[in-house]
Amino acid sequence: MLVENNLIDAAKSLDGAKQKIENKLRTTGLTSKNTYGILSNSIREFNIYNKSNYLGILFLIDENGQMIARSDEPASKIIDFSDRYYYQDLRDHSEKKYTIGPLLIARTTGQWVFHMAVPINDKKGNFAGVLVRQLLEEDISNDLRKYTDSSDFLQLMTHADKNAVSFAYPPPSTQIKSVQETFPKITFNVDLLANHKGTGFASSARDKKNDFLIGYARSPVFELTTYATIPRSQILGLFFKSNIHFFSYILAGVVFITFIFFYLYQLSTELTVAQSKAFHDALTGLHNRRALFENLTLLMRDSMRAHQPISVFFIDIDFFRLFNERSGHEAGDLALQAVAQALASCCRRPQDFICRWGGEEFVAVLPHTDSTAALKIAHDMLNSVRKIQLSGVQPNKPHITVSVGFITHLFNPNNMETDLIDLADQAVRRAKDLGRNQCVQFDANWKNPNPICDIPNKNLVSI
Ligand code: GH3
Ligand code: MG
Ligand code: MG
Repeated sequence: MLVENNLIDAAKSLDGAKQKIENKLRTTGLTSKNTYGILSNSIREFNIYNKSNYLGILFLIDENGQMIARSDEPASKIIDFSDRYYYQDLRDHSEKKYTIGPLLIARTTGQWVFHMAVPINDKKGNFAGVLVRQLLEEDISNDLRKYTDSSDFLQLMTHADKNAVSFAYPPPSTQIKSVQETFPKITFNVDLLANHKGTGFASSARDKKNDFLIGYARSPVFELTTYATIPRSQILGLFFKSNIHFFSYILAGVVFITFIFFYLYQLSTELTVAQSKAFHDALTGLHNRRALFENLTLLMRDSMRAHQPISVFFIDIDFFRLFNERSGHEAGDLALQAVAQALASCCRRPQDFICRWGGEEFVAVLPHTDSTAALKIAHDMLNSVRKIQLSGVQPNKPHITVSVGFITHLFNPNNMETDLIDLADQAVRRAKDLGRNQCVQFDANWKNPNPICDIPNKNLVSI
């Protein structure tokens, strides 16, 4: 595009000057002086409307290849251009409207340039010379640097039609005198590629060392073909290099997602711990009252659906205030833990639920448990607490005991409101009244003065 734009500019400036020169040639004739006037004026006029920085001087060559005048010097010495491609090409091909020459060191300015040239015809339409405009290699290259990363390719070359290379990037070194020293650095079949339209890839595999991949783009304007060459060995490296942003985004994304996952994992772990803490008693490790309310309704509904009795136990440590006063609060805490463990050991089935109700009181809910089984479990509870041996408490000191109140109930849709915990609590109070260290099953009318549960071992006295 850059080369093309510059060629369009060059063509515009050539067109303007060509008309004036041909008019002059057909009227008064051309001298070095009047030609200089036309050329320098054309440049000035062109520069008013165009901001092209890449165009060099404009000069005119006569039909013998001798320079008549150049736009930058009023009195120019005669230079022979008869060997130049653009001169010979337009002289020998009268049908050509323009030609684009190869990259070379200018005889006029000593810079690396390539040329666009148009023929000058006399009155009869015969070849009368060539009007040439320079395009500056260095300036175009500098501009190209702004748009491209030179590491994307090894070399970029542009040429018109099947002519030699006109523009090359990076520019050739100032040390070299002939373009042949640098171009073509690689060999590829220009004829073959010249037939291609649009863009594409071709391969040049002369030998392993010179194995290049050539990307080409061919534009219809000026029949311009541009080749970018990359050594095959560098393609992978270039791919990574040119996509480094893309890869770094992916990496950053992976790190970010990993971090998010880690963060979420930590959050969920903390949540699980917090949830566990929210439903457990810190001292005994048993569930707490909140967990009981969460589970009780479910257990009740489950029992109703299964037409199975459910038993609820209320357990209260006997004379625990006294125990605390005698043995201290720390020993009291240890005793609470031991009682919790002893009671939990009696609730063995997976669905059995036991919690610390608060203080020295516990509640157990045992689904699928009829009153015979409940009575047995109440005895188990009494006995396993009686067996507790507390360290620091003298062997001859009385054992720690509990009173147990329980109720066995068969739920149906009409009695779902029954508050089993309250009824079990009433039963434990009756056990207290009857002397503690025993269990009592709730009885609706309490007419029976004796508790349903006997005292399994009357010799064991409470604290
Ligand atoms: P009763 O046989 O009638 O149940 O008498 P009690 O002394 O066990 O009953 P009361 O309700 O009068 O006292 C309960 C005592 O339990 C009060 C308190 O000293 C003790 N207690 C409650 N929670 C804790 C606890 O977390 N740690 C300790 N060490 N003691 C506690
Ligand atoms: Mg109590
Ligand atoms: Mg008590």
